Amino acid sequence: MIPLSQPTIDEQEEKVVLDVLRSGRLSLGPYLTRFEEEFAKLIGVTHAVGVNSGTSGLHLCVKSLGIGRGDEVITSPFSFIASANCILYEGAKPVFVDIEEETFNIDPKLVGEAVTDDTKAILPVHVFGQCCDMGQIMGIAEKKGFKVIEDACESIGSTHKGGKAGSFGDASVFAFYPNKQMTTGEGGMIVTDDDDVARLCKSYSNQGRATDMQWLNHERIGYNYRMGEINAAIGCAQLDKLDHLLERRKKIAKLYSEGLEDVSGLILPKIKKGNDHTWFVYPLRVEDGIGRDKMISKLADKGVSSKAYFFPAIHLQPFYMKEFGYNEGDFPVAEKVSKSTFILPLFAGLDEDSIGKVIKAVIECLREVSD
Ligand SMILES: *Cc1c(COP(=O)(O)O)cnc(C)c1O
Repeated sequence: MIPLSQPTIDEQEEKVVLDVLRSGRLSLGPYLTRFEEEFAKLIGVTHAVGVNSGTSGLHLCVKSLGIGRGDEVITSPFSFIASANCILYEGAKPVFVDIEEETFNIDPKLVGEAVTDDTKAILPVHVFGQCCDMGQIMGIAEKKGFKVIEDACESIGSTHKGGKAGSFGDASVFAFYPNKQMTTGEGGMIVTDDDDVARLCKSYSNQGRATDMQWLNHERIGYNYRMGEINAAIGCAQLDKLDHLLERRKKIAKLYSEGLEDVSGLILPKIKKGNDHTWFVYPLRVEDGIGRDKMISKLADKGVSSKAYFFPAIHLQPFYMKEFGYNEGDFPVAEKVSKSTFILPLFAGLDEDSIGKVIKAVIECLREVSD
């Protein structure tokens, strides 16, 4: 079976992990400092704070920007659930806005309609790695005085009109779960140019400790969201090969698009002008009348993993329907995309032979389900 994703781990990661184990310093050591410094440089920001997941990073951004009870944050219903849950953690309310069919990203033209007196921030998600229209989003935010938190968890290395994903907002978050473009096992990284946000995120991630980080001096209620030294060491090794990892993903996406471009019944992913895209996943859509789920099960029969993504959309997850009264039909574009999209295997180690097999299987399965 060709898997959907697989991390690229070699002797480099083994070497640094062994180095950590032998050093006896398993937390708050030199690899964390190095990973944060190199990461900040990569994105071109002044601060990076390592945390134990993308989700905890998002939570700390919401908290550090002072968003809380009674506040509203405008975000996308077509995302991984963490981008909305992080708003709920602080008692604020996620307000969804429908997406653009072309990019799957929040539609900036609809943001204005969702604004109320309680709106405090916009939380755009660069879905599947393609950047949102950050020019328009930052324009709205600046005009209205809203904060912007970029969920860049799927978009390391992607750019929009030359600007890097994660470099536009007040604070942004990357994630390193094993299916992402680069991994630390579990882990996340907050990036920001704001000294106060960086200081608060660092403190909150480390039990609310004061800046001097005296072990039993807790200035505020914090969390244990620290990134461990082993994870940070893996992160350093992955950063060293990031260019290769991203180039390989772009190449595979290109081969998929070339191999499937004239196949009727499929809608291929589009890259908007001005965007450079590092492909967290390769999303394909089936046209109306073709069963997406049938495609997935037929692909599995031929040894190819695929998955409905993101399905269901966040507003149709049980908790959100119950708590906020959302229903089918509330965000028609997100629902249409969510019902017709599935992802193909995509990871740096996927070889040419497997890519050919996947393309062939998609074409055959499509013929079978269309008959
Ligand atoms: C992966 C991801 C996250 C965070 O995931 P963690 O598993 O907590 O690291 C957040 N938002 C999006 C859109 C993601 O894809």
